[in-house]
Amino acid sequence: MDVLDLYRKTGALLEGHFLLRSGKHSPLFLQSAALLQHPLYAEAVGEALARHFEDEPFEFVIGPAIGGVILSFVVARAAGARALFAEKAPDGGMIIRPGLEVNPGDRFLAVEDVVTTGGSLKRAIDAARARGAVPVAAAAIIDRSGGQASFDVPFRSLATLSAPAYEPDGCPLCRAGVELEEV
Ligand SMILES: [Zn+2]
Repeated sequence: MDVLDLYRKTGALLEGHFLLRSGKHSPLFLQSAALLQHPLYAEAVGEALARHFEDEPFEFVIGPAIGGVILSFVVARAAGARALFAEKAPDGGMIIRPGLEVNPGDRFLAVEDVVTTGGSLKRAIDAARARGAVPVAAAAIIDRSGGQASFDVPFRSLATLSAPAYEPDGCPLCRAGVELEEV
């Protein structure tokens, strides 16, 4: 499966001139929700990711909300595991909602749609570790960190994408007069 093709086909890979949440400008923007809104495509992505970890069993999958919720579900469905999510806590970290089952010693896979710095995926891993679970690996549909994201567990992605991000005053798209879109 060419996952970048799937992003393009579903309008999830946008090309132009975008103001990212970091304040930087980029010619590319990934809107995974546009792909994951199609259950059959989401399922295919979940199966492709789960296949990478067939030899490393885990009891649950966890993803940072909101982007990681659907992905966690489809990977867990394909792997026969539970699907959990972590959400932002007031202290800036992440927590797992009471009622979601995490047992001490449970092995888990942490997933996120797109990894840029890996920060939220790390916080989701920490949230599960805080409940006594043990990560086997981290995974993303797309790694756009340019090889910068690293974890203390193995990390796999279905595709890598190096997209430049410019400071506004050094942005060639601004200089060329391309209209800026907020995303
Ligand atoms: Zn610009």
